[in-house]
Amino acid sequence: MTDHKTPETEAELTGATPRRRPKADVLEVGGRRLSPSTLMMGHAFDPALSEGSLKPPIFLTSTFVFENAAAGKRHFEGVTGKRPGGADGLVYSRFNGPNQEILEDRLGIWEDAEDALVFSSGMSAIATLMLALVKPGDVIVHSAPLYAATETLIGRILGRFGVTFLDFPAGATEAEIESVVERAKAQGNVSLIYLESPANPTNALVDIEAVSRVRDRLLDGEAKPPIAIDNTFLGPLWQQPLQHGADLVVYSLTKYAGGHSDLVAGGVSGRKAWIDPIRMMRNTIGTISDPNTAWMLLRSLETLELRMSRAGENAAKVCAFFRDHPKVESVGYLGFLKEGSRQADIYNRHCTGAGSTFSLYLKGGERESFAFLDALKIAKLAVSLGGTETLASCPAAMTHLSVPDERKQELGITDNLVRISVGVENADDLIADFDQALRAV
Ligand SMILES: *Cc1c(COP(=O)(O)O)cnc(C)c1O
Repeated sequence: MTDHKTPETEAELTGATPRRRPKADVLEVGGRRLSPSTLMMGHAFDPALSEGSLKPPIFLTSTFVFENAAAGKRHFEGVTGKRPGGADGLVYSRFNGPNQEILEDRLGIWEDAEDALVFSSGMSAIATLMLALVKPGDVIVHSAPLYAATETLIGRILGRFGVTFLDFPAGATEAEIESVVERAKAQGNVSLIYLESPANPTNALVDIEAVSRVRDRLLDGEAKPPIAIDNTFLGPLWQQPLQHGADLVVYSLTKYAGGHSDLVAGGVSGRKAWIDPIRMMRNTIGTISDPNTAWMLLRSLETLELRMSRAGENAAKVCAFFRDHPKVESVGYLGFLKEGSRQADIYNRHCTGAGSTFSLYLKGGERESFAFLDALKIAKLAVSLGGTETLASCPAAMTHLSVPDERKQELGITDNLVRISVGVENADDLIADFDQALRAV
């Protein structure tokens, strides 16, 4: 676990015997910087501090014992800002715990982020971020569409507190983004630019670099707003937005990061200057993940690269099968973008893989998509994505049922659309399943 204090400093300041400190993390060997998949096995945990246990124990405790009264005072001086540098050490489990700290250190590694936070769900991560960064009268500029609950949060919940928003379509050009930001500036103080890429279920990519240039041109100066992006669909393996101008990356860790469809959690990584106020909000409202979930995520991260690589390879094979099938109208898969198109240009600059979640458009309508879904034998009929198992659903009739018809048409959420998240099964088995299901259509 992380502890940024040196024993000398603490002993000097508290007069106490220093607590045992974890040994320094090994981040490189022989001048070679270690990759995230290597670091996931041991980074930020010292077995010597936990009875030699190879794996971190699950720390089920609500509070942590101070070594002495002076150490307790020192902590609260940090929390309240009486002493610069913030709080250090563990005090109370609403703020943090050993399992969550290890997880945060490891999560940050994937994107070389300055800092990271974990939350009880993707939505609690997004809500905590927004509560920390916006105030009445502010405007949020966002790409559209967003995950439905995020749209509800911005439009209906933050709207009640006097926050307004303006959006631009995910595939917008730099000029289009610029005109929306111009209008937003006229509407109020723009305090947050919030993106989601690829968008769900259209898979449209946002040009993060263009957004970043527009922000720097039009919103420079003291009140420069951060760019936050929901990277759940491609991150952290296939898209790393911090390298393209984003300040904060948001995750539903429920999806690929957790990866086994057995937990709900969220994360935010990025610049420390923006993470600090979000941490303060999380400390206040208690949206941190629990120790057990954090432990499960530590296990999940050990196989993240393996799982995502395999799922990505499987999706490429499955999509190649669908593309040539006579009962398929089209396949909305990032691997099939038309070379030379604007979307392909964004993909080539921002992404290193096409992911494993895509849109299958069957010839026909609801009758055909339902027949296909009901005939599946391996793939399960469920919403969500990014798990080891393949899932399929019909957005128009399920996740997006309440979206007005006109908006559905605009977003391409038609009755013949089947959303598929490919898992890590044997690709040929999956193709055999999809083949027999298409025959049932
Ligand atoms: C699932 C999801 C969320 C919400 O995450 P939860 O963990 O369910 O709260 C947010 N954004 C995207 C893109 C998602 O897929």
